Amino acid sequence: MIMSFLNPLKALLKGLAVVLKNALKPDVTLEYPEKKKPLNENFRGRIKYIKENCIKCGLCKKVCPVKTAIMIGDDFVIDYTKCIFCGSCTEFCPKNALIRTKEYELASKDKNNLIMKENINYGNN
Ligand code: SF4
Ligand code: SF4
Repeated sequence: MIMSFLNPLKALLKGLAVVLKNALKPDVTLEYPEKKKPLNENFRGRIKYIKENCIKCGLCKKVCPVKTAIMIGDDFVIDYTKCIFCGSCTEFCPKNALIRTKEYELASKDKNNLIMKENINYGNN
């Protein structure tokens, strides 16, 4: 009789101990988007195009594994619905016309917003 009363009490105290133990630990999550985790220095985000440097050699398209980096007229166009952010186009560009940025907040409800024409004034990084 006494045991049937003590067992639930023991379980309750054990649960409370776990709650207390974790309540005193520092937070492990951040309140995104107000707070953001620092990015690794090698982080690969949106590609920035420097039109002045581009010689229109087309190498970026050749090395792009998903063939989404293309030149249309004077614009460098990337379909970010396909881009895998591998960085190959930036690494192989012979004139440093493509630069990796740390911009990663590209989500959009409209798929068309993810097909981006990059020009010299575009981007923040
Ligand atoms: S690889 Fe560089 S220089 Fe060549 S077309 Fe692409 S962006 Fe321009
Ligand atoms: S980062 Fe990779 S997948 Fe994206 S456009 Fe450049 S080469 Fe293509």
